[in-house]
Amino acid sequence: MNTYDVVVIGGGAAGLSAALVLSRARRTVLVVDAGAPRNAPAAHMHGYLSRDGLPPGELLAAGRDEVKGYGGEIVAGVVTGLSREGHGGFTAVLASGQRVSARRLLVTTGLRDELPDVPGLGDRWARDVLHCPYCHGHEVRDRRLGVLGGTPGAVRYAQIVRQWTHDLVYFTPPGILTGTERAEMTARAIGVVEGAVQELVVEDDRLRGVRMDDGHVVRRDALFVPPRFVPNNDLVVGLGCDVDPDGWITADRTGLTSVPGVWVAGNVVDPRAQVITAAGQGSAAAIALNADLVDDDVRSAVCDHNRPKETP
Ligand SMILES: Cc1cc2nc3c(=O)[nH]c(=O)nc-3n(C[C@H](O)[C@H](O)[C@H](O)COP(=O)(O)OP(=O)(O)OC[C@H]3O[C@@H](n4cnc5c(N)ncnc54)[C@H](O)[C@@H]3O)c2cc1C
Repeated sequence: MNTYDVVVIGGGAAGLSAALVLSRARRTVLVVDAGAPRNAPAAHMHGYLSRDGLPPGELLAAGRDEVKGYGGEIVAGVVTGLSREGHGGFTAVLASGQRVSARRLLVTTGLRDELPDVPGLGDRWARDVLHCPYCHGHEVRDRRLGVLGGTPGAVRYAQIVRQWTHDLVYFTPPGILTGTERAEMTARAIGVVEGAVQELVVEDDRLRGVRMDDGHVVRRDALFVPPRFVPNNDLVVGLGCDVDPDGWITADRTGLTSVPGVWVAGNVVDPRAQVITAAGQGSAAAIALNADLVDDDVRSAVCDHNRPKETP
């Protein structure tokens, strides 16, 4: 079984960024990647300094080349199990049956966006159904926009989306807006439509509007929807890493979890992380991981140094 200094599970921005720093630090690194980064459905990636507008796949392809250029290894595959070994290391098992051994683990498996159950929403995801105004708000600026409300935080989210257009409608189940929220919406000219959203109206492969349960259609060009973020953290939870009451892994500023030797970075631990943030977290984790390995190397060097020498 191959042993690596670090096995990175997940080869998105967080994982590849970490692998780049670790391979440049002359660590043996394996990245195992299932190849489904969260922003794959989007045609372009925005807000990444110097790479604004790049197709998401191109950033990752360039990252993979950079990692391999320093000797890092990348395999396509799914890690199905992680276990702690007696000597302090770890074993990762891939769906293919392959097993690899690691001194340290970095888990960067991202999150899943769970959308409300409205017919048509999933089909339009990342096209004219959007969630992140910082990623795609500029591309739909000044258009007829909507926000699907009704979930905690949705009113504030609508006020943020308002930054990109003067024509915004907030769709909400009846009777849940507070007086203050309603007044704030009115003050900023955000329309409020109360009722149940029945479906999206799509013509010529474009969103045209939102049909309410009473049949009337509110014309919209794009709809912002806050998804439920579900971390892909079964593997780390299975290792015994602590989670907060909402089920998110708890970690220090470098991404170190409660299990020594196990780090996390990117959306698997932080739903707010953009691509550039995830890459930054991967880099910070890699630097901490290398320092931890150096501590290990010092301990074993001292041990070897102090071992009584055999006399010939
Ligand atoms: C539609 C959409 C558009 C977006 N647009 C932008 C944008 O324009 N700008 C921006 O900054 N952000 C954008 N984002 C956010 C962006 O997707 C995330 O910030 C970013 O993907 C986080 O990187 P990550 O490395 O943490 O996770 P990911 O990029 O999701 O990478 C995780 C990787 O781990 C792999 N993986 C998961 N489980 C396993 C396993 N068990 N074994 C092996 N591999 C595994 C996955 O296949 C994936 O390749 C967008 C998000 C969405 C949903």
